[in-house]
Amino acid sequence: MNFYSLNRQSPEVGFKKATISGQAPDKGLYFPEFIPQFKSSFIKEIEDIPNEEIAYEVMRPYVGDSMPENILKDIVTQTVNFSIPLVPVKESIFSLEMFHGNTLAFKDIGARFMSRCLGYFVKGNDKKVTVLVATSGDTGGAVADGFYDVEGVDVVILYPSGKVSTVQEKQLTTLGKNIHAIEVNGSFDDCQRLVKQAFVDPILTSVLFLTSANSINVARWLPQQFFYFFAYKQWVDKNQPPVISIPSGNFGNICAGLLAMKSGLPIQHFIAACNANDVVPEYLASHHYKPKAPVATISNAMDVGDPSNFIRIQQLFGMDASELKKVFSSVSITDDETKNTIKRIYQECNYLLDPHGAVGFLALERYLNNNHSQKGVFAETAHPVKFYDVVEPVIQQKIPLPESIEKIIHKTKMSVKMEADYNSLREWLLSMK
Ligand SMILES: *Cc1c(COP(=O)(O)O)cnc(C)c1O
Repeated sequence: MNFYSLNRQSPEVGFKKATISGQAPDKGLYFPEFIPQFKSSFIKEIEDIPNEEIAYEVMRPYVGDSMPENILKDIVTQTVNFSIPLVPVKESIFSLEMFHGNTLAFKDIGARFMSRCLGYFVKGNDKKVTVLVATSGDTGGAVADGFYDVEGVDVVILYPSGKVSTVQEKQLTTLGKNIHAIEVNGSFDDCQRLVKQAFVDPILTSVLFLTSANSINVARWLPQQFFYFFAYKQWVDKNQPPVISIPSGNFGNICAGLLAMKSGLPIQHFIAACNANDVVPEYLASHHYKPKAPVATISNAMDVGDPSNFIRIQQLFGMDASELKKVFSSVSITDDETKNTIKRIYQECNYLLDPHGAVGFLALERYLNNNHSQKGVFAETAHPVKFYDVVEPVIQQKIPLPESIEKIIHKTKMSVKMEADYNSLREWLLSMK
């Protein structure tokens, strides 16, 4: 399988090259040259297929011959080593709990898969690889955990100061060793801009072997398809496929779901559930894509004003908004609605949502109110304890800390403070060499 750049000014590359470079030289996102189709027997028998085999079948067409079969099998087995249960919450609504990995968020899947691929691809290189990544919250922790102590790889994480939760900050600033956290005085989009600038800096890239671990990297984006196959595997009524609602920020996760659907996975409809950052709902209404400055919300991992992966979604539907709208809708949910939902569902269903899951839940509930005969799944993308600063005052109760969080919450934060200024980043990276 080859991948081409959506800007179409760079040559096609294989999976290895796409993983190592992250972004194409023309700054475009890599996109698969064709969409693999799964046999209908694979879909029919999915209940009897172990998760690691499903994961292997999903990735094999993309990875191709860039690594031997047994290596890919090992990598997917290590990637899906935690449970992803489908839990009933109320009539017609199920929660797909994506947060049972090490850092308690769905990004563990992509980060674990990518770090292991990259570790394999750079083995034996004499130049160290520097993974440079911007995070709005959860990416940083998942990437830090995935790459911690991986030989030959340094990780540099940029995050917006004061705009990530306490737990998130601890997850990315307390590891040390090959993991470096930079606290930027600015927004997530500032962090992303600085990272993008570094990748096209000819001097920096001649000195450092830079790569990205943001959700634009195909090795992070593609394995997120697993969630949708696992959801369908656990779906009881195979004659009536689920409506799926995904809390969305950079649109990587939902884009993977749409790709899985295009490969033959039965899904009724997708809802991109957004917070106040409503670029995509506006696009569906007007057919004009207008990026905006990001707005800070309580579901901060979705505070994105110009979602990188949306271009891939458009590409999946031939850049045709009317085609897209046949299976895809998007809504914007306010912070007040999010809090009310957390409270109501805790009281009525005894189920504790995190702020992102709550956005997904409410978007789905509204959709089903207008489509009575259907049933749906929303993604619970993070454990509520990651956002205890938001959730505890709403339910007026303490959430017990899981062991993995207990261990880091008292550790000392180690970060480098920096202005949102490219020259500062550049000098710091050069001095790190
Ligand atoms: C990153 C993140 C999202 C948004 O996912 P995208 O793939 O960027 O759309 C939603 N919820 C949580 C908890 C996240 O960490």
